[in-house]
Amino acid sequence: MKPAKQFAQVSRRFYRPEQYHCTDCQKRLRRAVTLSERTVITLKEVIKLVHAGYRCPDPQCTGYRRTYRSAKADALALPWFTYGLDIVLLVGRLRLREHQTVDEVHQELLKRLEPLGVKIARREILYLFEAYCTLLRASSEAKDDQEWLSQVEKNGGIIVSVDGIQPEKGNETVYLVRDALTGRVLCAENVTSSETAVMKALLAPVVALEVKVLGTISDAQESELLALQELWPEVPHQVCQFHVLRDASKPAFEADKAVKTAMRKRLQPKVREVRKQIKKHLATASPQEAKQLAVLDEYATGIVTALNTDGLQPFKYATVQTSQMLDEIEASLQQLLKKGGL
Ligand SMILES: [Zn+2]
Repeated sequence: MKPAKQFAQVSRRFYRPEQYHCTDCQKRLRRAVTLSERTVITLKEVIKLVHAGYRCPDPQCTGYRRTYRSAKADALALPWFTYGLDIVLLVGRLRLREHQTVDEVHQELLKRLEPLGVKIARREILYLFEAYCTLLRASSEAKDDQEWLSQVEKNGGIIVSVDGIQPEKGNETVYLVRDALTGRVLCAENVTSSETAVMKALLAPVVALEVKVLGTISDAQESELLALQELWPEVPHQVCQFHVLRDASKPAFEADKAVKTAMRKRLQPKVREVRKQIKKHLATASPQEAKQLAVLDEYATGIVTALNTDGLQPFKYATVQTSQMLDEIEASLQQLLKKGGL
């Protein structure tokens, strides 16, 4: 794999386990190790990530030696791969389903990655296709992987994580089932239906492993939830927290956006008018007046910046931030007035 280079745009991200508490003693997990620090190239972005492993803080706990990973971080790319899982899946689909040649796949990927400032070598396509095939063989290999099985024994079991990935819009989804503790892919299947029966069939190889399941993680999709619940009714389940929070905060977020837009629509023309006047006055202003006008113009810039603040899901609301900024500007202007500076 090529080392990380300078890309047009890089997102920096920190990943921690989806679990917050030890599955054995319920104590809060603590950051213990950096599992990886790497660059992952997906179809959408280049990510520089730090993936931290957490552990139970209690040396007396039976789960003390277990390291918890982030299922989300593991879902981005296979271990040792710079190119993301979505690219692996796309290569597999283009080769097997669209019957494209390696050269055609190469051209397509060059085109898709160009906006990110990323180039990909033709040879890489071969590696990625091989990775795709390995992925689909994963289930038959897990039960014979002695090294992995001894790790599972040390961990006291596995945490089953189900992740549906759509390489492209449409009804085809690749489901990846992994052990969230070791990050190993347990099975992967290309499916066009997400009925509970299909989900259960997908998970059959995991059941066949006959290892202890400590917990399950999935998105909030109903068929996934039902399948996991039917297969492991006694096992604690966790919905991927980011998705839950994002979905839960959506109505509030939309409302916030509407208010913010209304604020901007009302205030922006006024600010624009004021700035126009400042500019006009500047032409005939004395040095002293020019100085004051420059200060006023800075305030106007501050207001424009406040009005253009965007929120970030799930919990960063634009209106809250904009209002705070505007309040600060107002307070500052009031003080100027008191001091008689204007
Ligand atoms: Zn513990």
